[in-house]
Amino acid sequence: MFTWPRGHYGVMTREQASDGASGRDAGRQIYRSDPHAPTADQLNAQLERLAGRVYVQARDGAVDFEAAFDLAGFLIEWGPADPLVQELAELSVEGTDRARVAEVAMQVLAHRYEPGFDAQPARLAALEEALDAVKADMRSTGLTGPVRVVVPEWASPRSAFVEFRGDGYGSTPGIAPEDGSDTVSALIAVADDAQDSVIETLHEVWPVCPVHQLGAHAREHDGAAVWWCNGNGGHVIVTIGQWE
Ligand SMILES: [Zn+2]
Repeated sequence: MFTWPRGHYGVMTREQASDGASGRDAGRQIYRSDPHAPTADQLNAQLERLAGRVYVQARDGAVDFEAAFDLAGFLIEWGPADPLVQELAELSVEGTDRARVAEVAMQVLAHRYEPGFDAQPARLAALEEALDAVKADMRSTGLTGPVRVVVPEWASPRSAFVEFRGDGYGSTPGIAPEDGSDTVSALIAVADDAQDSVIETLHEVWPVCPVHQLGAHAREHDGAAVWWCNGNGGHVIVTIGQWE
């Protein structure tokens, strides 16, 4: 997620930004509130849209000059000055070197944009696959009721949540798309969020170590995603998905 420069959204116009901090008014509250300025959420949503489009195009080797220009223009307008963004704008206007535009676009996006589930559907699929393992553990421990991975519209940045019995999500920051980039991190993230969801819904700890009666923690151990118990110096209860 991109962090907008402090004071650069919602509280001032661009004109005010340029003659602000360095002028004779420096040190005082000089920015007037501008009711028409977009909010950080609106800027993030717009960046998500512009960046997502360019990201998918550049990744697939078919970057569109107009889309790249729109992204560069947006960042020039709202982001901090960056020669790379300037170069992207110029290359897009030239409209000749598609490969170079894709390359510069990816560099520009690298620090500003984390591809979401829209741009990387495979990551959501990885989380859903991980949920199958967690569901198996729910069944083995006698937990019933529908459970699924959801990506709510309101989550910003867009995160996934495990929904248990139609509710029980929202108290956590959710699961970031990058957690879906490999099997182990997907299992841990989904197990952890499922646990939060169950606890919030049932107000009881789940799952519980059968030996020590302590709440389990989803974590990595020896390269595997496991349910871990802190009892007796700490031990693996079981690999996630293998609860018996
Ligand atoms: Zn234990």
